[in-house]
Amino acid sequence: MTVNEPSRPYAPATRAVRTGQYQDLSDLHSEGLALTASYVFADAEDAAEKFAGRRPGNVYVRFSNPTTAAFEERIAALEGAEGAVALGSGMAAYTAVALGLLAAGDHVVLGDGMFGTTPRFFRAYMEKFGVSVSVADVRDLGQWRDAVRDETVMFVLETPTNPMMHVADLRALSALAKERDVLLVVDNTLCTPVLQNPLALGADLVVHSAAKYIDGQGRCGGGVVAGRADLLKAVSEVLRTAGPSPSAFNSWVFLKSLETLPVRMREHSRNATLLAEWLVEHPAVEEVYYTGLAEHPQRELADSQQSGHGGLLGFTVRGGQEDAWAVIDSLSLVSVTTNIGDTKSMITHPASTTHGRMSPSERERAGIAPNLLRLSVGLEDVEDLKYDLDRALRAAGSQATRTAVDQAPREAGSQAVRAMGGRFR
Ligand SMILES: *Cc1c(COP(=O)(O)O)cnc(C)c1O
Repeated sequence: MTVNEPSRPYAPATRAVRTGQYQDLSDLHSEGLALTASYVFADAEDAAEKFAGRRPGNVYVRFSNPTTAAFEERIAALEGAEGAVALGSGMAAYTAVALGLLAAGDHVVLGDGMFGTTPRFFRAYMEKFGVSVSVADVRDLGQWRDAVRDETVMFVLETPTNPMMHVADLRALSALAKERDVLLVVDNTLCTPVLQNPLALGADLVVHSAAKYIDGQGRCGGGVVAGRADLLKAVSEVLRTAGPSPSAFNSWVFLKSLETLPVRMREHSRNATLLAEWLVEHPAVEEVYYTGLAEHPQRELADSQQSGHGGLLGFTVRGGQEDAWAVIDSLSLVSVTTNIGDTKSMITHPASTTHGRMSPSERERAGIAPNLLRLSVGLEDVEDLKYDLDRALRAAGSQATRTAVDQAPREAGSQAVRAMGGRFR
């Protein structure tokens, strides 16, 4: 009973709208999903204090939500960050970092081999507002040293890149960044905080597309930025003002997904390592790109900064695009999609999809060959994945390959998969 309590009962319409409104959900064991556009203030002064930012607390859906805050807290803890800000997508995360921390006249160096939309965003939008952009090979520290100018304020890169699996030396790049007073922003989508902690190696901010391994089951879009509190202040100011906000439902999905992230990443890495080693030996396969292979040229560097090699690998099949497409079309278990980081294994032909907007010469320089395939290795039984891939590689091989490949039927794969018949959808 408060002094504001009415002295007569409310009508049904009022009760329909108001009864149970202020239930405390804090004793739920599984974290609650808070779907609300606004928040109740204790009194008029509380509203004024929270609006002015002098008192912590929720104000409005565009810039805060308790479920999203729980997700941010959990991802910050995993990244070893002072804080985190969730956004509507990975690209929204880049947008907020760029709008919050860059100004006309600034220069940014991007790592090559990044997720295609990232360089497109910087070139299409940041250059328009007077930010200049150059690109450096993530494997070559000298190129980064040469790229730095007086106006350089930010390095942005992915490591490892995909599907070529080039590794950036994060310790060396962060030392260079500090020496030249440049911010180091690392996209950690591929490794996730489970396999790599760029902040501990000297990065200032980490960016994620949460739609990949963080969700891990291919359901929701989202993004997050984690790192230094002073930089995050600028990022969340963009969120509040420009509004690239996350959905509370998606934050709830990500929050729950993080609970299994360590287990999933361990298993993705194990499956991918076993498949990479198997593909190396396959007569229809030319080359395999995976940092977990002993023969990967940067294996030692990867091991010095990653605690595992993740679920993504690239491989080239004997022949050309026709043969690569035939492998895709002969698979029944592995899905044909351009996403990554799902429990379900997925295959992509980069040259005609994710890297299709590049010119042929750009593709050649980036190593995106017509016979290259990208495989996001899921959590199915690895023997079933081998069975599916082996069947596809045999079915698809060019005439020359077909004679090289042992045609004898193999006893791999479970009865269940074989019983499925056509493509598993
Ligand atoms: C998918 C992806 C992005 C973009 O994130 P969206 O959530 O799709 O906006 C950025 N970086 C990497 C490495 C990605 O895989």
